Amino acid sequence: MGNWKMHGSLAANEALLAALRAGFSGGCELAVCAPFPYLAQAQALLTGSEISWGAQDVSVHDQGAYTGEVSAAMLNDFGCRWVIVGHSERRSLHGENDDLVAAKARTALAANLTPVVCVGETLAEQESGATESVIGRQLAPVLALGAEALARIVIAYEPVWAIGTGRTATPEQAQAVHAFIRSRLQSLGVPQVRILYGGSVKASNAASLFGMPDIDGALVGGAALVAEEFLHIAAA
Ligand code: PEP
Repeated sequence: MGNWKMHGSLAANEALLAALRAGFSGGCELAVCAPFPYLAQAQALLTGSEISWGAQDVSVHDQGAYTGEVSAAMLNDFGCRWVIVGHSERRSLHGENDDLVAAKARTALAANLTPVVCVGETLAEQESGATESVIGRQLAPVLALGAEALARIVIAYEPVWAIGTGRTATPEQAQAVHAFIRSRLQSLGVPQVRILYGGSVKASNAASLFGMPDIDGALVGGAALVAEEFLHIAAA
């Protein structure tokens, strides 16, 4: 899954999506999460292809006086299948807390969108050995949504220190956290949730990450803006 963040233009997106359509040979699920204004373009250019699309955030509210917010129903109007919730940039730059992220996941599910719930620790938290307690805290309100909801979500483990920094978690580091997340889900009777890794994934490191038993795919930022890189990751 590509997370375009606040990048793109009508012209650049058109070229990128055309290259993805032409170059994607299947074998995995491929999706792009575009900025809100470009969802109509993604719908127009990807309908009928094997590539799905989604958004990078959703409001917890259905409608009303919430200036700047975008509802799940609006995402449905543009054919979205996915919505990222709780990306670390939303948490750190927009004050989103664990409860709000879980509420967004619930809102997405109620609208038949699949939430991609992001969790991840900062560098300081990692260095102080707090990774599991941070991930556990972030997951708690999401796990409280219950087994039926959990069976329909995707989780993305994105260590904050690896996002956009070029510094990737080693496959073993990522696997350890994915196994921890999987065990929390398994203890609730939900073994089949897809867990994506995110943080400087690129063509050169994708295969070794995907070789790990609990890494089911990737949430890709920078490399998703370059068709060749993203297609290499998909092939891996
Ligand atoms: C992201 O935006 O979720 C991300 C992982 O970014 P990057 O791949 O650029 O590190």
